[in-house]
Amino acid sequence: MELTYRHFKLSLQELWSAKRHATSFNTTRATYLRSRIIALSYVWAVLTLIWIPVDNLLLDTDDYSLAILRICLAAVLFSIGHIVSSRHSLRDCRIALAALVMSFNGFYLLANHVLGYPHAINTFSYCYTLLPFLHVIMLTIFPLSIRESSSLILATALTQIYVDFQSNSLLTLETFAIYWLQTVVGFLVIWAQTSKLHMMLRLYRHATLDPLTGVYNRRMLLTLAKRDIENTRTRSRPYSVLLMDLDKFKRVNDRYGHFAGDMVLQAFTKAVQETLRTSDIFGRYGGEEFILFLPQCSADNAQLVASRIMGNVRDLRIEVEGLSEPIKVTTSIGISTSVSTQDTLNQLLEKADLALYHAKNNGRDCSRLFDHCGADVQEKHKRPWLEAAN
Ligand code: GH3
Ligand code: MG
Ligand code: MG
Repeated sequence: MELTYRHFKLSLQELWSAKRHATSFNTTRATYLRSRIIALSYVWAVLTLIWIPVDNLLLDTDDYSLAILRICLAAVLFSIGHIVSSRHSLRDCRIALAALVMSFNGFYLLANHVLGYPHAINTFSYCYTLLPFLHVIMLTIFPLSIRESSSLILATALTQIYVDFQSNSLLTLETFAIYWLQTVVGFLVIWAQTSKLHMMLRLYRHATLDPLTGVYNRRMLLTLAKRDIENTRTRSRPYSVLLMDLDKFKRVNDRYGHFAGDMVLQAFTKAVQETLRTSDIFGRYGGEEFILFLPQCSADNAQLVASRIMGNVRDLRIEVEGLSEPIKVTTSIGISTSVSTQDTLNQLLEKADLALYHAKNNGRDCSRLFDHCGADVQEKHKRPWLEAAN
């Protein structure tokens, strides 16, 4: 086995689509996208209105249709900005982004229609053929996956091809030159957006994952659990917490060295991960202590999960270079389950810690449920370091 920080490597699949992104990352990206969508909608709505006198100046027409179109576009953009400000999911942000691009393209299409699809070589061309460029370039401010990014650019490209077809300029050299330039710009925009997403993913991982094991670090673990417990509390469902501590781990370090100890921690993490459901939250609480939060899990089921984990860990044979025998380890587990809807994260952690203390006192390699610990243990051994993230 080799020690690597592979958890921070990103695959192309993660940049291609958001399917493999963690829910917590999606929430963070949604917040980032939302603020930019709101800013862009409002700024573009104001610019659209300011453009009305410029239209009158540059286009030799008394027709008010274009001004009406601009007022409609501004109204749509203000509405998108207003609606998205109260939405928080990534899905809503994606819909808003698509609506934004569709409204830009809709305006471009209708403006051309109102002006009778003018051919590229006139005043109109200088004012408006740049619009699709602008629409694509504006998207640079969003961190998007390659799939999201190319779909939005494709929508703009199809609109433009339709307009050029209507104005009989599809097969001209000028149009070819514009398309060529636009393709280059399109690729640069996709590159910029994907780079932003890449940077966000990397920073997010560094801030939320434990570098040695790749599971959530303490801060993220407690943040997610707090949110989860609050949700569960309002729905009155049971919620279990498993606090795990490797047995006699100091001895592993002393006997085989810290490197071997690190490999044990990695192997232990993998063994626990094999038992997880997608809704479970698992992370490193500190040192060789790990926590598993089990939403909608009763005390009985939590004990079953604990037995499975202890079995997996007992079966581990950790091969380390230079050692004649594989290392074997065991773990003790303290379990607490929310009994009332009032239980807070702090209380659940404290109870799990007392149960863990009980498990250690009972010979290790076993689990204990807080409710089964005697009143004396429940009272006596409160550890002051158990402060949670709230
Ligand atoms: P107990 O069964 O009572 O838990 O005994 P223990 O020896 O495991 O005692 P304790 O939990 O206090 O030991 C924690 C040890 O974990 C001390 C520290 O050297 C080791 N440790 C903490 N973090 C790391 C780490 O990242 N890598 C390695 N190799 N060791 C670590
Ligand atoms: Mg410990
Ligand atoms: Mg220990």
